[in-house]
Amino acid sequence: MFVTGADADVVVVGAGPVGLVLAAELALAGAAVLVLERRTEPDESMKAASINVPTAEALARRGLLPAARQVQREVRERAGAPVLGGARFTGHFAGVVLEPDLVDWTRPELAAHAAAADTWLVPQRELEGLLADHLARLGVPVRREVEVTELDDAGEDVLLGTTAGPFRGRWVVGCDGGRSAVRRLAGIDFPGTDPELTGYLAVADIAEPELLGEGWTWSERGAYRCGPQPGRLITAEFDGGPADRTAPVELADVQAGLRRISGTEVTLTALRGPATRWTDNARQAATYRSGRVLVAGDAAHVHPPFGGQGLNLGVGDAMNLGWRLGAVVAGWAPDGLLDGYDAERRPLGARVLDWTRAQTGMLRGDPKSAALREIVTALLRTPDGATWAVERSSGVAQHVELPGEHPLLGRFAPDLPLADGTRLVDHGHDGGFLLLDRTPGREFARAAERWPGRVRAVPDGPGAPAGALVRPDGIVVWAADDAGAPGLPEALHRWAGDPE
Ligand SMILES: Cc1cc2nc3c(=O)[nH]c(=O)nc-3n(C[C@H](O)[C@H](O)[C@H](O)COP(=O)(O)OP(=O)(O)OC[C@H]3O[C@@H](n4cnc5c(N)ncnc54)[C@H](O)[C@@H]3O)c2cc1C
Repeated sequence: MFVTGADADVVVVGAGPVGLVLAAELALAGAAVLVLERRTEPDESMKAASINVPTAEALARRGLLPAARQVQREVRERAGAPVLGGARFTGHFAGVVLEPDLVDWTRPELAAHAAAADTWLVPQRELEGLLADHLARLGVPVRREVEVTELDDAGEDVLLGTTAGPFRGRWVVGCDGGRSAVRRLAGIDFPGTDPELTGYLAVADIAEPELLGEGWTWSERGAYRCGPQPGRLITAEFDGGPADRTAPVELADVQAGLRRISGTEVTLTALRGPATRWTDNARQAATYRSGRVLVAGDAAHVHPPFGGQGLNLGVGDAMNLGWRLGAVVAGWAPDGLLDGYDAERRPLGARVLDWTRAQTGMLRGDPKSAALREIVTALLRTPDGATWAVERSSGVAQHVELPGEHPLLGRFAPDLPLADGTRLVDHGHDGGFLLLDRTPGREFARAAERWPGRVRAVPDGPGAPAGALVRPDGIVVWAADDAGAPGLPEALHRWAGDPE
């Protein structure tokens, strides 16, 4: 247990979902981690309702998918909804629901990532709960009621001033949300586009629900949706953005916005739980690293919650950064490994920001936006349009640019069944690289024997390529279709460092 003023390899600021995932990944990589969180208790407000495919696969890779499936079962039971039976999430684009029946689920990226894709109804509060349990099992301390207010990157380590005294870490990662103090104190710019709308997410008792109808409704002032659960409301009103984004959300705020957008006199009699205010503020950190300070999750990017991207993007940041920073702390990181975090994740974040900006453009109530919505809606209601949009919004199209021709390169490894009855993800629970080897003489596995603590060869499997090297975050960095394929030693050096 760390005490005030003592050292940690990495101090993670913020115990939201991204801070929790990152701290766990660092611990798996062998780093001594300390999490500082200003809240006394976890945040109870309504935020993300679901997770995407890369997040579900990340949970699977660390052995957390059964707990996530249990959450999904309980959420469905509470809502009185039927068991899902393998149904996959499609979501919406600016309120245009992506119809599952139109999607070509046999397309390679969708078919390759089906194993965990039935698990998506995992709300943020419950996700944070299961991640906190995971972190506790790994023995990582979370210090609550500690707010970071000062930061000094001294070159060798970073000194943090907090409401509970100073803390020192060799590295500091700001996972402290959209208004990140770490980002600001480290002098990292946060350019982007200003908000033009105010949105609310709430569950309310509605006196005359028939006034609102079901599903998405657009009007000249914006859009709203009732459902799918009774009383669940999401609104988006183009009012120039909220005057005070930090003011508490009252029932009157949600009702007034809903009345203006819907043009009705609908009455909300009560809020069931804390409601959330959101905007279309879309900004991204100019760099994800400044010296010994890094940012991840909402601290690195904010955007409106259309199509459920923010939490997932942040979990992806944490999975990408955890093993890299862990390797730096452990002393085996090859040159440029840590800089690869910014190089891989910032372009991906920029694409997600634009995905949400396009939806803001389509939701506006003016005649030009309405005309655009009509055209894009027609495209999304074609099989190709729906499939393309689901490949993007579900996260299965995400990849990083790596040199080489093999179709698996830079992609998330599919969760393959292996010859001994296990699955590929079963071998990832402790982190580390995985090496698939289908060569008769296990030549690839023999080439990796000099990295025994970092690279684990797994039993081969019928659908696997002849060989593949999979990073701890699930990205394939080398793949081969035949036993004589070159490049494995180079890939091992490039990604797993010098032999042990
Ligand atoms: C209405 C709404 C709906 C959403 N729906 C979705 C969805 O369906 N899918 C999806 O993927 N995403 C969704 N999101 C986005 C998602 O909620 C965020 O992207 C996610 O919470 C980001 O996680 P984080 O850990 O980066 O930051 P946060 O969850 O903001 O956590 C940051 C933590 O840092 C702490 N902290 C802040 N400052 C300090 C400090 N100075 N010192 C110490 N601690 C500090 C905070 O108390 C907090 O616990 C939604 C968001 C909203 C508002």
